[in-house]
Amino acid sequence: MSIREIFELQQIDLLIDKANAEIKQIDQKLADNAVISVAKAVLAKQQKALDVLNAQRKDLDLQLDNLNKKIDETKKQMYGGKVTSSKELSSMEKNTGLLEEQKKQIETQQLAVMEQVDKQQKATNDASQSLQDKESARGTDVTAYKDRIQQLNDELKVLKADRQAEAGEVDTTHLALYESLRKRRAGAVVSKVERGLCTGCRLNVPARDVSRARGTDVVYCSSCGRILFVT
Ligand SMILES: [Zn+2]
Repeated sequence: MSIREIFELQQIDLLIDKANAEIKQIDQKLADNAVISVAKAVLAKQQKALDVLNAQRKDLDLQLDNLNKKIDETKKQMYGGKVTSSKELSSMEKNTGLLEEQKKQIETQQLAVMEQVDKQQKATNDASQSLQDKESARGTDVTAYKDRIQQLNDELKVLKADRQAEAGEVDTTHLALYESLRKRRAGAVVSKVERGLCTGCRLNVPARDVSRARGTDVVYCSSCGRILFVT
């Protein structure tokens, strides 16, 4: 019985870890809807600004209607023949002049607000389009993420079957040691020795340890503590 079996088992476990890590990463991406939330918030803000401007426009329309009514009424009175006092007529004329002046001011405001409404309508449409684009891109991403998860789960099924077969090859003492080491540290717990170096920490392994590791002894790297595997 040698360290080779636990090394082989570890290679499978590392692939399982990698697949699980990728699934976790994709799950986070699936849960992260920030881009859409931001685009929705931007659209809501633009829509609100548009609503405010539309309300202003409506208010100006009403003011203008009222002024027109007042002007019409005054003119009717002036030219209706009922008012004959020249003093009263001149006061009404003056009043009409003031109303016409107010009307001009409101019409100027109206033009400015309508221009703002146009601009704001465009900004709102842009925000709406941007949200749609982002939702569509997100839909494509989500499909790709789900496909990848499916693929990884299929790979995991195979890897887990391989693992079970491989674990059956490993001596129970070595298996228990390996499992307990894996619980304590992430990644590799068995490290291959290549050209006198521990591949786990890239440090030199004393020749004495290399030759001991060739046997059945469990030898640990004096630098990183991983089990040394010599081919
Ligand atoms: Zn090492």
